[in-house]
Amino acid sequence: MAVLVLGGAGYIGSHTVDRLIMNGYDVVVVDNLVTGHVAAINEKAKFYQGDVRDKEFLNDVFSKEDIEGVIHFAAFSIVPESMEKPLKYFDNNTGGMITLLEVMHEHNVKFIVFSSTAATYGEPKQIPIKETDLQVPTNPYGESKLAMEKIMHWSDVAYGIKFIALRYFNVAGAKADGSIGEDHNPETHLVPIILQVAAGERDKLTIFGDDYDTKDGTNVRDYVHVVDLADAHILALEYLKDGNDSQAFNLGSSTGFSNKEMLEAAREVTGKEIPAEMGPRRAGDPSTLIASSDKARSILGWDPKFDDVREIIKTAWNWKVTHPNGYNDREGK
Ligand code: UDP
Repeated sequence: MAVLVLGGAGYIGSHTVDRLIMNGYDVVVVDNLVTGHVAAINEKAKFYQGDVRDKEFLNDVFSKEDIEGVIHFAAFSIVPESMEKPLKYFDNNTGGMITLLEVMHEHNVKFIVFSSTAATYGEPKQIPIKETDLQVPTNPYGESKLAMEKIMHWSDVAYGIKFIALRYFNVAGAKADGSIGEDHNPETHLVPIILQVAAGERDKLTIFGDDYDTKDGTNVRDYVHVVDLADAHILALEYLKDGNDSQAFNLGSSTGFSNKEMLEAAREVTGKEIPAEMGPRRAGDPSTLIASSDKARSILGWDPKFDDVREIIKTAWNWKVTHPNGYNDREGK
């Protein structure tokens, strides 16, 4: 039987596909390649190009393949874009989930591991954030993912489709051998942007706001290595297959780094100057997001290997210097 990975050509999806294959799973990937890269998909996985909202296409994949469970990454994930184009997010993310669950129900597939987000919490009332804390998103991206969690809940009640929602905090880094990594166009995330400046592809970093109520006025985030995150999906799938109930888990490091601290760490790792300036706040940004990951550690047995943000940045830098054009070279662009 195979694991179906929707969005398996994307950044986190491709690392998860890679880890699944390294752990002996048969993997089927579905991706519409709007943001993903064929070259990122481990060649041992079977690939279907198509959209999660296309019910006929999904039905076809579920008919052809013997699918034991689904890991769902296929979603848009850029906070500022979601502020400008909320309907794009509700259509693709939330709408896509409805189609997916319909098809899973029709084909009697009972397990789904879902990439949710810390953005479902909004501005937290307490730090570190626990899974039981209030979820009040401050942007449409987070709202679209919270709606997806709720839709999964009611599909569990009605159809017995069991789910694990993994609420990611900030993800960075690349596979240690540098063969796969982060390649977004346009890039909006902090670590790859800092490294683009380090590589001379951008003039400078603009830090979005230094008037937040944090240690140095800049936003504080909790960074996890992408391979550690990928491994949590495999643990979550096995947890469901063991007969456990639907629930959510935070995936973070329980440590916060400010945007200024991330810049300093990247300067240290790369040995580059990395020019930076202060800019205005970015819409939709909560001030501080730090996870309590105790639950994932104790229940799933999640044991992240990267506990130093410099080591995370180092793997991203290794990918950057070995692939200055991202996947373009491998995709003949
Ligand atoms: N950020 C920044 N400059 C940039 C990109 C991001 O200051 O060019 C900040 C952003 O405002 C946030 C943090 O970096 O405080 C992490 O943002 P990112 O988009 O990487 O992830 P998010 O927290 O939105 O998921």
